[in-house]
Amino acid sequence: MSFIPYSRQEVSDDDVSAVVRALRSDFLTQGARIPEFETLFALRHEVAHAVSVSSATAGLHIACLALGIGRGSRVWTSPNSFLASANCALYCGATIDFVDIDPATRNMSIERLAEKLELASADRQLPDLVIPVDFAGLPADLREMRLLADRYGFRILEDASHATGAEYLGKPVGSRYADASVFSFHAVKVITTAEGGMVTTNEAGLDRQLRLLRSHGMVRELEQLEHESPGPWYYEQQVLGFNYRMTDVQAALGSSQLLRLDEMQGRRSQLALQYDQLLQDLPVIRPARLPDRASAWHLYAIEIKEESSRQSRAEVFKRMRDAGIGVNVHYIPIHLQPYYARQGFHRGQFPASERYYQRAISLPLFPALTLEQQQRVVATLGEAVR
Ligand SMILES: *Cc1c(COP(=O)(O)O)cnc(C)c1O
Repeated sequence: MSFIPYSRQEVSDDDVSAVVRALRSDFLTQGARIPEFETLFALRHEVAHAVSVSSATAGLHIACLALGIGRGSRVWTSPNSFLASANCALYCGATIDFVDIDPATRNMSIERLAEKLELASADRQLPDLVIPVDFAGLPADLREMRLLADRYGFRILEDASHATGAEYLGKPVGSRYADASVFSFHAVKVITTAEGGMVTTNEAGLDRQLRLLRSHGMVRELEQLEHESPGPWYYEQQVLGFNYRMTDVQAALGSSQLLRLDEMQGRRSQLALQYDQLLQDLPVIRPARLPDRASAWHLYAIEIKEESSRQSRAEVFKRMRDAGIGVNVHYIPIHLQPYYARQGFHRGQFPASERYYQRAISLPLFPALTLEQQQRVVATLGEAVR
């Protein structure tokens, strides 16, 4: 039987036409399609500013810098995430620490965060920045985090890489509570530009810093120059920036994908509901659903209940892969990586994320997945756990 991948991009004929039009236009980089994609994204996410970048990793890096993170800063994130959520702090010379997850949501636990802040406050070691992650597309507890941020004086950078199109308290993710939010358009994510990302913020000052940092720290606009312009060729470097720009070709794909976000999101939600029903009688824990937020359903991650399943996660994983089912594991806790172990982190420090990792499996989920394929996934899982 054919292999079912865990994720697959959805590229339509309209997407292909949009990319071809961009390729045949006068600009492959920095044409009109970049501001167009940014405007569309900002409108859809009900936020004042959206800055496109070459990847979410690049976005996290310059968002940290724009938020003032540098040598000596302290940054905290969730261990249950992709490496980039922590690496971005280290790129800036900051130190990183983690806050364990809430096993119910698999997102950063607000209780653990509050406890750790209280201790850090007594030791004068409060973080400058906290990076919550909307794991699998389920928004983190941002309202509660905002209350803590205002009380303890840290800033919030939301890693919304999984959460394009998710909703939190009736508003799109990226529109409020966080100082800035970062989205990923990597091919496996909810919408794609092959590689790419977006940073959203409501602060004009952050928007300006992000635009400077993504393009060499360079400006051309007369009203932004520090020196007097000697002529129309003139440009100025004002800070140390990077080349983290998205191309016009990618932006064409992004805008075209964004037009179908609601449709693709609807399909993902429907598939998630079907999984919920199909998995009812198996010894697995299904993803949490919370009444005040809607997941983007980037992933459908379950946990094998090892007390009632005869097989370990490793065995279940192997049996499913052998049966042609592209299961995956999200995530190996970041602090357990050899690189992070060398920074002094060790097993047992963030037990909820470690326990979750021991039992986690992500099932295939993408808009073109069929009910028949889902039934095959669940039937194979049913045999594997017995
Ligand atoms: C995918 C991902 C990233 C990195 O995204 P890129 O666009 O590939 O750089 C960062 N954080 C999380 C949580 C992700 O899943």
